[in-house]
Amino acid sequence: MPTAFEDIHTIPLTNVKAFILACGESLALVDTGRSEEDAKKILEYIRSLNRSPRDVEICLITHRHRDHIGGLSKLKKECGFKVASHRGDASDIEEITGISVDVLLDDGQILQYCGGTKVVHVPGHTSGNICLFLMTKGAIIAGDTLFILNGELSPPPDRYCEDPEMAKRGLRRLLKLDFDALLVSHGDDILENGRAELKRLLDELGY
Ligand SMILES: [Zn+2]
Repeated sequence: MPTAFEDIHTIPLTNVKAFILACGESLALVDTGRSEEDAKKILEYIRSLNRSPRDVEICLITHRHRDHIGGLSKLKKECGFKVASHRGDASDIEEITGISVDVLLDDGQILQYCGGTKVVHVPGHTSGNICLFLMTKGAIIAGDTLFILNGELSPPPDRYCEDPEMAKRGLRRLLKLDFDALLVSHGDDILENGRAELKRLLDELGY
């Protein structure tokens, strides 16, 4: 799958994606797929970059749903990374996977990866759901904050949301960020005009 940026990798898995930030010596993994099989695909992908699983310093979990944390236990064993999530989902992630969350992320926090990666808390899909804004790339890793359904940008489907109304209301905050690319966990990434598309969507929906 072509990716927008040389150093941000989109890894297609079983009806979900994971992402790798590979801007420096250490790697950051975003999400882990649905299963151990997905974890193996991620490990293969890391090796295909001529990197070692041990180079993955941190695993940033966008939210607690199983298709994002199913590979966590296997990957933690192979990579030995720290695990990070928003505090709103941390205890569920620990309970489901048996893996400790080492770093609790807060809204607005800026991580060092890829020249600055800002945590944006958008609750509603789950209470600890986050996006990652790659500040120097003009890209947002949206996770499940936004979906591409039948090729169209959409809010996450209500049936998958803890609080569907809140999940939609929170989206307008993203328009404050300067981005073009929207990398989503479900559907094809938007590489250009992502902000304009999001604005059009929210105006249309009245959010
Ligand atoms: Zn989800």
